[in-house]
This record gives sequence, C-alpha cells and structure tokens, in this order.
Amino acid sequence: MKNFSELGVDTLILNAIQELGFENPTAIQEQSIPVYLETERDILGLAQTGTGKTAAFGVPIIQLIEPQSKFVQALIICPTRELCVQISKDLTAYGKFKPGINIVSVYGGSSIERQVSELKRGAQIVVATPGRLMDLMERKAVQIKHVKYVVLDEADEMLNMGFEEDVEFILGHTPDEKRVCLFSATMPKQIRNIANRYMKDPVELSVGKSNSGNANITHQYATIHAKDKYAALKRYVDFNSDNIYAIIFCKTKNETQEVSDKLIKDGYNADCLHGDLSQAQREKVMNRFRHHAIRILLATDVAARGIDVTGLTHVIHFQLPDEIENYTHRSGRTARAGKTGVSFTLLNMREGGRLKDIERISNVKFEKIMIPSAQEVRDKKLLAFTDTIINTEIEEHIFDVQVQKAVDALMELDTKELVQKILSLELRRFSVDFMNEPDLNASGFDKGSAGKDGSTRGYKGSRIFVSLGKKDGFDIRSFKDWVADASNISWKDLRVDVSGVYSFVDALPEHAQQIIAALNGQQYAGRSVRAELSGDKSSGGGGSYGRGGGGRSYGGGESSGRSYGGGERRSGGGERRSYGGGESSGRSYGGGERRSGGSDRGGDRRSGGGGFGGERRGSSEGSSRRRRS
Ligand code: AMP
Repeated sequence: MKNFSELGVDTLILNAIQELGFENPTAIQEQSIPVYLETERDILGLAQTGTGKTAAFGVPIIQLIEPQSKFVQALIICPTRELCVQISKDLTAYGKFKPGINIVSVYGGSSIERQVSELKRGAQIVVATPGRLMDLMERKAVQIKHVKYVVLDEADEMLNMGFEEDVEFILGHTPDEKRVCLFSATMPKQIRNIANRYMKDPVELSVGKSNSGNANITHQYATIHAKDKYAALKRYVDFNSDNIYAIIFCKTKNETQEVSDKLIKDGYNADCLHGDLSQAQREKVMNRFRHHAIRILLATDVAARGIDVTGLTHVIHFQLPDEIENYTHRSGRTARAGKTGVSFTLLNMREGGRLKDIERISNVKFEKIMIPSAQEVRDKKLLAFTDTIINTEIEEHIFDVQVQKAVDALMELDTKELVQKILSLELRRFSVDFMNEPDLNASGFDKGSAGKDGSTRGYKGSRIFVSLGKKDGFDIRSFKDWVADASNISWKDLRVDVSGVYSFVDALPEHAQQIIAALNGQQYAGRSVRAELSGDKSSGGGGSYGRGGGGRSYGGGESSGRSYGGGERRSGGGERRSYGGGESSGRSYGGGERRSGGSDRGGDRRSGGGGFGGERRGSSEGSSRRRRS
C-alpha cells in the first residue's frame, strides 16, 4: 500500500490530513488520488459513504485549485444540505494550510441572499445541491463556465431524489473541457447513461464488489408482530443500551416523529430528523447527535442522506425501505472507517420476501436473532451495574464534610443491607410489570440463513452462570473458546456475557447440562469453578451470584482493600459472599423497611430517589424538548 505522499499529495495537504488522523489512504483514495493528480482522466467511482470518498476527490481538488484565480474552478454537486455542509467542512480541513482557497456551500432551506453574498466575495470551490444551484444560476449569482473539475457525489441518491434533469441542466452549462468525477454507491443504468453522455472514457474505480455490503456490518433481523414493533424496539435498545449510538429508520415523517416522541417520553436519549424541520432545527439535532448528546436518532431516508457520523454502533430498520438499494445506504451509515456495526431489522411477519430480495440484490447475509426477554434485559443491566460498581475508582477529593456525613449515615447499615438497597434502587425500573412483559418474538418468518437456527443465535436458549470473569483474565473471545473447549460444544452455538467476576453462557437447551457438567467443579487458577443454570432455584446456590470455591467474594478478594467513603470497612471481603442470595434477610428488592438507628435523612432520600437507573435515564440530556410546530 502506498502512503499519501507516494500518491502525490503535497506537503501542505499532507500536514492537514495528518492532523485529521488520516495515516494511510483508504482503498478508494489509493485508486483515485493518482488518477486525479497524474492524469487528465474522468473518474467513475463505485463507492459507498464511509469509504473515504470525500477525501478521494477532495484532497486532489484542494491540491489542484489555484488560489490566485478567483473564479469557480471546482463544482461539487451532492443530494442534500447535510452532505454539502460536510463536504465543505472536510475540504476546508484538507486546505487548512493552503491559504487563499474559498469554499462556499449552497443548498436549499437556507437564506439564498446570504449564499448570494458569499458567492459574490469569490469562491474557487462551490459545493451545491442541484435545486439551489439552479436557482443561483438563474439569478446569475454563480458563474460555472470556467469550471475545471465537476464532482457528482452520491449520484444514485440524486437520481432517487429526482434530480436527474437538474444535474443534466447544470452539466450542460459547464465547459466541455472540464474533468468529471462521479461517485455512486450503486451503478444503475441511469448512472451509466449519465456517464456515457457527460464523461470521456472514465477510469472506473470501485471498492468492494458492486452492491456488496460492507464486510464489517452484521445484518440481523427479528420477526415480530406489527403491533409489538415499538415494544420490541425498546427491548432491543435496552439490551444494547450500554453503548448504543444508532440511527433508527422509519418510513414517514409522522412515524419518525411519533416513535421519537414515545422514546423521549419513555426516558430514552432520542430525537428525530425529518423534512418538516427547519434548517436551524436540523442542524441543532445533528450537532447534538454528532456530540453524542443524543444517542438515538430517528430519521427518514431522505433526511438521513448525507449524515456523516462515525462510530454508529447500530442502524435499525423500524421499517424496511421501499427501495431495496436504500437498505445498503442505510446500513452503510454504520461500520465506517474500519469499525464494525450492526444493521438490525424489525421484521413484520409478512416481510420475509423483502428480506430475501435484499439478500439477493444487496449481497448481504441476514442472521436471525430473538428479541431478548424482559428477564434477559434485566440480567444484562444487572451485570453492567455490578461491573460499574466494581470498577469505579473512589474519588477521594469529593469526600468533603457533607459527603462524609452521608457516608457515615450509610455506614449505619450493614453491608448486605446497603448492597441490597443500592440494587433495589437500580432495579426499581424493572418492575413486576416489566418483568412480566411477554415474549415479543413471532413464530413466523425464519429464513434460516447460513444454517443458523435463530434459536441457537438468539437469547432463547438456556442461560448458565459461571463463576469466572474478566478478573480471571477472560474476555468474550477467550471465555467462549474456553467454554467450547471444556464442554466440547461448538463456539458457534454459544453466546457469552463476560462480567468482572462472573459470566453467563447462553446455549441451546439441549447443550446446557453438558456445559454445566463440564465446567462445574473444574479447577481454574486454584479455585473450583461454579456453573449452574441461571435463576435455577433448584441449584444449591439459591441463585446467588456469589463466587464459590476459594472464598473470593463479590467485592472482596482483590478489591477488598477498597472502601467506599474512605473509612474502614465494616465487613471483610469473605463475609460478603452472595448478593441477592437465597439466604438473604428476606427483604425484597423493592426496599424493605430501614434499619433502625439510621438517620431519617436516609429514608427520605430513598423514597425520593427514583432509582439510579430511572434517574439516569429520565434526566437523559434534558429530554424536555422542543416540539416541532
Ligand atoms: P467518507 O466516505 O468520505 O464519508 O468518509 C468516512 C469517514 O472516514 C470520515 O469520517 C473521514 O473523516 C474518515 N476518513 C476518510 N479517509 C480516511 C483515512 N485515510 N484514514 C482515516 N479516516 C479516514
């Protein structure tokens, strides 16, 4: 692989892209930059968003622009205002150390007068949506007859949006001797036609196979009844909520707004983007999403075009798109710049055929998963919460007199009671009603792809508790391997959740006993491993998640030196063997009566607290939000 310098990029621009953290060119950049810089040829590039195509044309264009000439030398046409803004921003960054380049972006939904005056000041690069550019051409506010470089970005999207005539009109007003570069995620016939008419023997570049999905994207679906769609979405989001950063696609503006409103009301960190929003509102939403102040963005296909956000963990199809090609566009928003991501479809029972069409046409493979049960969502939260507590560093500096008083008040409780109360608060939102929520999986369409039975992949199998975790040096992969080796069950049939001091294995029901028999009682690092069916009341452990064997206890062992609040611990590690254990005092999670002797402050606080989870979610970035008028 060549580096940017070997591709011909000059020092000024090299410095700028180094600042952006681009170390090596992406595949499309490696192909396109030398063609731009060393030849006079046109370029027809098959590349999706996320491949680095903006720099593929942007870097050479910035290098080739002559700052001393003030006319429009490069014209970049793209389908949406978001993409316009993004491209201008990227180009400005590439040209950071090359003075005298003016870049103006022009797009609908924003003051045309302001754009006219920006253009008057002189621009060598204009980034435009087709409609607004035509308006400006009619007003003679922009002159494109000296253009040397034309880029049509996301050309297939422009056609989908009905911009074909506009694009042809614009191209018709550019000089013959220009160079044209066209990028498209797909290559339908219409694009070929445009290429034939407006490009001269272009160099054809592509990253990946035509229409092929990005290999870093896992495509999943769950089959549900239409009426359960929102509940299933919430379950899925809850289950993945530790790190979720997602776009959820809906079909209509109304649906986008409705689902977003419901999620916000239910305490999620969500907002929406659709065509009814003003430009200022859209920008505000996008900014908050980019800065992760919003973690879930609801959007229509049109509104999401041009959104350039890296690090999306999930793309969720609340409704499948009408156009199959849009599935690729949507999914391509995740797994960008080498990262991995999940594209998840909530499938109505009747939509099985569409899924197969997508597989065939978009060349992706779907894997069936099950919507997790309420219990599984709760268990996962519990794992995450205990992990967080165990890994939280004590911040001595916050322990001023008042905090110390609170510590003292809490120290009145015995350790077990304190832990139970903390968990009661955390688990408060998992009410009886929540735990009783029904299974949301519909026994309908199951395409059984790649020989994977949904039930083997999903969350419906048996859940086995194992008293080993990250503290024993395991991560997901090594733990899965270890379980597979020990039990002689293929790792493909196992799912694992590895926590700090314990883990769960999800397996097919018929494999459960084999796994338990293989693991339970095995010696690991001098300790006897405990493995049992999770929540199995009949197992001797009484469902306790405490560690067996060598007496290392929850929160004890190597963490026993830690003390919350800096005072001496009231009980040594070994005593605190189980949490939520069978032999507990009989108090329920809902929080029993306070122990006498504590100050009444504690009681007040408890009743007003609302639970850790509830508070955290409820306050999620000020979800009291603007309503669209
Ligand atoms: P694009 O396909 O142009 O929308 O780019 C997708 C993302 O990849 C953007 O966030 C870019 O900043 C990033 N990117 C582009 N080229 C590179 C590169 N050579 N190295 C690292 N990141 C890149």
